[in-house]
Amino acid sequence: MADSVLLDRFARKVDYLRLSVTDRCDFRCVYCMAEDMTFLPRQQILSLEEIFQVAQSFVALGTRKIRLTGGEPLVRSGIVGLCENIAALPGLRELCMTTNGSQLGKLAGPLFKAGVKRLNISLDSLDPQRFRELTRTGDLQQVIDGIDAAIAAGFVHTKLNCVVMQGRNDHEINDLVAFAIERGLDITFIEEMPLGSISEHSRKESFFSSDQVRARIAERYTLLSSTDSTNGPSRYWRIAEAPHSRIGFISPHSHNFCATCNRVRMTVEGRLLLCLGNEHSADLKAVLRDNPGQPQMLEDAIVKAMQLKPWSHDFRIDDDVQVVRFMNMTGG
Ligand code: SAM
Ligand code: SF4
Repeated sequence: MADSVLLDRFARKVDYLRLSVTDRCDFRCVYCMAEDMTFLPRQQILSLEEIFQVAQSFVALGTRKIRLTGGEPLVRSGIVGLCENIAALPGLRELCMTTNGSQLGKLAGPLFKAGVKRLNISLDSLDPQRFRELTRTGDLQQVIDGIDAAIAAGFVHTKLNCVVMQGRNDHEINDLVAFAIERGLDITFIEEMPLGSISEHSRKESFFSSDQVRARIAERYTLLSSTDSTNGPSRYWRIAEAPHSRIGFISPHSHNFCATCNRVRMTVEGRLLLCLGNEHSADLKAVLRDNPGQPQMLEDAIVKAMQLKPWSHDFRIDDDVQVVRFMNMTGG
């Protein structure tokens, strides 16, 4: 199976899996969760063993990159062991993780040793008060210490993720760029997506486009367009003043990246989502639990599910909830 390839009905090769390992989180970011979230009961979520089996089947079918996400992946107990097992799968090129950084102070070293290759760390503000407001519970210094622990542990090409909201953190864009440059990190600015219903701000009023972010950065730095690609939705720019850092933009509203989509996502309930912005899905938990010890059944279900992958999402900038899932359920 080493040269298996998963193709959807538009002949797009799917070789990237984003695996959500928990819907829980120690933060409650205003754009991601409601303040009083109800999380899934334990029996409804996949065990670590089941998550591993899904990873194993995807890699057998040609997946080359897996990103663990959530919720906050580092609040799931046993996460380091899961990383070690997935990283050792023959054929997998890269195991990555997206994290809020709060647990990296203690876990960066073990994750690096377990074989995690790259980290994306979310950081929306450098002001402790505002950071607390945006995350509702987060401690900025703990996250900065986590970022520094990741650098010290040996992680390279670490990327910061920042969701920009007009009137909430847009005035910090260049400070965040300077922070990334100081540490030799990349930084990606993300347009807020209409996932789940939120109450604290109007997504329409807070919308700040990638073009606006770029114009803001151009006030302080010389941006050079770049053909760099990670095969994902980010478009990258280099900074003349800081050759070691790149600036990425994820613009689901203003730039449609669906034609080159190579990814699928699995929720921690074992629901395989074929597109971030649509509900097309397949229930892998049922397949796993109805056919224990039969990886072929799981692989067949995955191959079949590729036929459900839609051509594109259609996010609009308004306050209507277009997808009822919150991002913590989806796995960002
Ligand atoms: N807890 C981890 C973290 O925050 O990095 C991983 C999961 S989080 C859902 C993954 C990414 O999705 C984060 O960078 C977060 O900022 C982003 N995100 C969450 N909700 C979003 C939304 N509605 N629109 C755009 N990005 C969102
Ligand atoms: Fe938690 Fe990440 Fe969602 Fe923030 S964005 S609430 S850190 S899952």
